[in-house]
Amino acid sequence: RAKAGTDQTAFFDTVMGESATQSFRVERDLRHALAHDELCLHLQSLIHPERGTIGAEVLVRWKHPVFGLLYPNAFVPIAEESTLIVELGSWVLTEACALIAVEARAGRELRLSVNISPRQFRQRDFVPRLKTLLAESGAAPRQLTLEITEGLFLHEIDEITARMNELAALGVRFSIDDFGTGYSSLAYLKRLPIHELKIDKSFIQDAPDDPNDAALVETILSVARHLQLDVVAEGVETEEQAAFLSRRASVIHQGYLYDRPEAAERWLERWRQV
Ligand code: C2E
Ligand code: CA
Ligand code: CA
Ligand code: CA
Repeated sequence: RAKAGTDQTAFFDTVMGESATQSFRVERDLRHALAHDELCLHLQSLIHPERGTIGAEVLVRWKHPVFGLLYPNAFVPIAEESTLIVELGSWVLTEACALIAVEARAGRELRLSVNISPRQFRQRDFVPRLKTLLAESGAAPRQLTLEITEGLFLHEIDEITARMNELAALGVRFSIDDFGTGYSSLAYLKRLPIHELKIDKSFIQDAPDDPNDAALVETILSVARHLQLDVVAEGVETEEQAAFLSRRASVIHQGYLYDRPEAAERWLERWRQV
């Protein structure tokens, strides 16, 4: 991990020189990476207090030939500046559906949560493409959760609502990622087909000690309870944080306390054993 960190710093120094040329280089390399199998998926467990591991979040990585394993903060923001994020996101969705389908054929129900960039969701053909992907892969829509952010609701809300309804009608679930860090009103929670709120790790990490963060978490839990939404607490690192959450009913946990994101195949090997 330390090595990856060092390489990542080198990567930043090399390509994040702020100039358009540098950003262009990352885009070019990323395009190449997409075409040459340099991206891969890592999975991190989602843990229900009674039911155990109920699925995993899909996190993209780049096996860079020079800089080693790169984390999304080094390339996703650059991809988001262009339609490259659409291709990257589509690759991730395709791989995730393939994993769901392979496990289903072996009689195992794998549930995956996939991060969806606003730009990706706003593409004109996002819904038809996802429908085709689900049909062709054979992945059950109800085993797929799309993690979206509140920022998505700042644009074309009627169109976004229609798309979400269309996918939700198939069984696809929606989770609001980084919940509590945005600045939109909560009214959308009533109008949109949302199944889950994901509390950002910044709140979880300070909740046991900081009364403000604790109050915030309590408020989110109470909103979720009233609207009958699932809640995932992201970034659970310590026993104290887990204990704080365990005093509240059925919050799903995710964090280093349980596992670090790891290569999909390795995560699946562990998961298949339980
Ligand atoms: P996110 O969606 O908020 O994902 C959670 C991040 O927290 C992940 O970082 C995960 O590895 C990290 N994390 C999990 N547990 C802990 C913990 O206990 N402590 C701490 N400190 N961190 C924890 P990662 O994998 O580096 O991903 C960063 C962000 O990149 C994600 O944030 C997400 O916004 C984005 N991302 C990742 N994969 C994709 C993708 O396929 N598509 C898109 N559009 N974005 C992605
Ligand atoms: Ca996420
Ligand atoms: Ca987050
Ligand atoms: Ca996020």
